[in-house]
Amino acid sequence: MELAGTKKTGLTAACTLSVLSSVCKIIPFFTIYEILKKLIQSYAAGGRLSFADVRTLVILTAVSAVLYGVFAYASAMLSHGAAFDILYELRMKLMEKMGRISSGYYTANTRGSIKKLLIEDVEQIEVFIAHSMCEVAAAIATPLLTIVVLFIVDWRLTLVSLLPIICSFVILGMALKKPDGAKHQQNMADAKAKMEGTIVEYIHGMSVIKIFGGTKNAFKRYETDLNDFTKAVHDTAYYNANGMGLYYAFFGAQVLFLLPAAIIMLNHAASYTEVLPKILFFLVICAGLKEPLENMMNVSIDSTKINVGLKRIDDLLAEPEITLVGSGKQLTAYDISFENVSFAYPGSGINACNEVSSRLPQGSCNALVGPSGGGKSTIAQLLLHFYEVNTGEIRIGGVNINEVTHAELVKNIAYVFQDSFVFHDTIENNIRMGNETASFEQVKAAAIAANIHETIMALPDGYQTVVADNTGLSGGEKQRIAIARAMLKNAPIIVLDEATTYADAENEAKIQEAFSRLSKGKTVIMIAHRLRTIQNADNILVMNEGHLEAVGRHDELMQSCALYRDMVTANERRDTWTMRKEVQSNAS
Ligand code: ADP
Repeated sequence: MELAGTKKTGLTAACTLSVLSSVCKIIPFFTIYEILKKLIQSYAAGGRLSFADVRTLVILTAVSAVLYGVFAYASAMLSHGAAFDILYELRMKLMEKMGRISSGYYTANTRGSIKKLLIEDVEQIEVFIAHSMCEVAAAIATPLLTIVVLFIVDWRLTLVSLLPIICSFVILGMALKKPDGAKHQQNMADAKAKMEGTIVEYIHGMSVIKIFGGTKNAFKRYETDLNDFTKAVHDTAYYNANGMGLYYAFFGAQVLFLLPAAIIMLNHAASYTEVLPKILFFLVICAGLKEPLENMMNVSIDSTKINVGLKRIDDLLAEPEITLVGSGKQLTAYDISFENVSFAYPGSGINACNEVSSRLPQGSCNALVGPSGGGKSTIAQLLLHFYEVNTGEIRIGGVNINEVTHAELVKNIAYVFQDSFVFHDTIENNIRMGNETASFEQVKAAAIAANIHETIMALPDGYQTVVADNTGLSGGEKQRIAIARAMLKNAPIIVLDEATTYADAENEAKIQEAFSRLSKGKTVIMIAHRLRTIQNADNILVMNEGHLEAVGRHDELMQSCALYRDMVTANERRDTWTMRKEVQSNAS
């Protein structure tokens, strides 16, 4: 109901209709009992039963059967409508939340477990609201009403038929009270989520596993997770086996208790005509009592299942958000300053970025260089407010980024990732993500400036070709699509993560050309891996083990920074290396 939000009224109406439908479901049992009684009584009196004697009962039976259908249908329609609306609202709420939380969440949780939460856990709530909630209402109302009807007919037989159910509930209560029950359920759910996460990860990393041929080792974790899950299922099953076995055995044992009671009653009855219809009625009804009670049990099992999913949803909704101080300021200038910025990834304890201070003027081109793991990407991610800095401040145009909304920040920064992501959509729409309102001409102009237009035109459907991240385009082509996106966005700040992997000369030249067109007049931060591309940068920031080791232009750093000088020399050697065959001299 808390999740139902604005749809509470609809859900309440659906539950009420569901209860009404169960009332209508019970009425025919009662009317049939009355008809049976009249039949036996008139037979015993030696007469015949005429239709007129039972007409009202027959009509009542038919009407309640029809009403049962109508109420059940209306209830299902209402609950399904409400369920899908709630599902939509919940998914939107989760998606919005995911945009506001720290990127650390995505490192701490596998893609598989996030997928499970967004798809399966939310889906389960739909099933619960659309079906189970009304079933709960019906599952409680039907057995209660049936028991009332049974009491009206004969209280002694009612008590006898309730005896096995009471026993089974006591057994179940004892089984559920066992101290480790909830722990076993939780273990099973956790092991399942872990295994599913690992499966998704392996599917994504399959090419790497194949290339390195480490199938046996690579599947070790999958195998371990699978075994853990199997063990958790076994443990839970064995833990519950005795209690559940006894519970089911008693639950359906009404006839076993009723028959001896019926024989005793018949032996002591003054007249069979009085007792026989009751006994027949109880035998029929009690077989039917099992089903609604079983529904009640299933619903409570379902609700423990959704509780696990609900907890995961609640946990995500409770994740700390990237803070926004105040109501959000506008950015009007685009110089960037890092002031004593320190940051450690959650749980790592080591500063990936330590006391970094630097001011990057508006319109300047700045390169971040340094050994791998030096903290370059971290700086870029902090600027995008993916994470909260531990100490210090990052300012854009004098405004602390904590005072800028996420929307305002991403409006002003275009980020071209090293591994640019292409969505499963047409190329045109993939580029248009940079600016949803752009015309086709603008999309095309961006593609031309990004040096990707000709490649697109060579594809079978040109801009309408549907692409996906894992098919169709090379890494370099994907990056040029990302540059076209950024061109279209025309943001005043550009963060570029230069790719290292697409090193063929033609691709590299095209990307460099596209980069320089994109960067014109913007404040640029470039995470540079090829040092010869940054020799004209206004500022080169040398990052090493989280520290900003030196800042300056190329010539200055060649004089003053040994690390930079070594890196340039190593780069030059790398860029001019050739392969040659070593001829062994057989001097000896
Ligand atoms: P660079 O971009 O210079 O190669 P990074 O900024 O990626 O360096 O990394 C800086 C340090 O932070 C490294 O020690 C790296 O292992 C660590 N690091 C990077 N990303 C994460 C992460 N998501 N979680 C924990 N540690 C990380």
